[in-house]
Amino acid sequence: MSLPDMAEAWQRTPKIPYGGRCFKHNPNHKCSHYSTLTGNVNTTVYIGDINCFECIENLGNGTASADGLKDGNAPETFYMSRSERKKFNQQKRFNEQHGKCTCGSVWRIRINSVNGKEFLGCSNYPKCKNTASIKSQLK
Ligand SMILES: [Zn+2]
Ligand SMILES: [Zn+2]
Repeated sequence: MSLPDMAEAWQRTPKIPYGGRCFKHNPNHKCSHYSTLTGNVNTTVYIGDINCFECIENLGNGTASADGLKDGNAPETFYMSRSERKKFNQQKRFNEQHGKCTCGSVWRIRINSVNGKEFLGCSNYPKCKNTASIKSQLK
């Protein structure tokens, strides 16, 4: 358990205003952000993912228990719903197959309004106007 890192974690924690589900809490502590209406659905099981500064502070001063929390950050898809995870993995496979635009952004499939054909357009459009053709030989 990484309690000595708490001060550092506190520094890293963005001071975002309370916006319902935007906070990930320590599941062992019901802070003032806990919603009695919906229940606290946005808890984390990884210590590195807690982004509620009240929970972090309470972990640091021992008010809240870190028992049961896993070290580090959750895998990228951990908190996603089934459908979000599916979409994420599809996009990941797509990126692996097509690479990225020279500006570092991923490609999106676009449709040419004139001939109706699909092509790759930079997801950073309109800042980046790069395009590429879709590789036909996908594994
Ligand atoms: Zn909290
Ligand atoms: Zn680009």
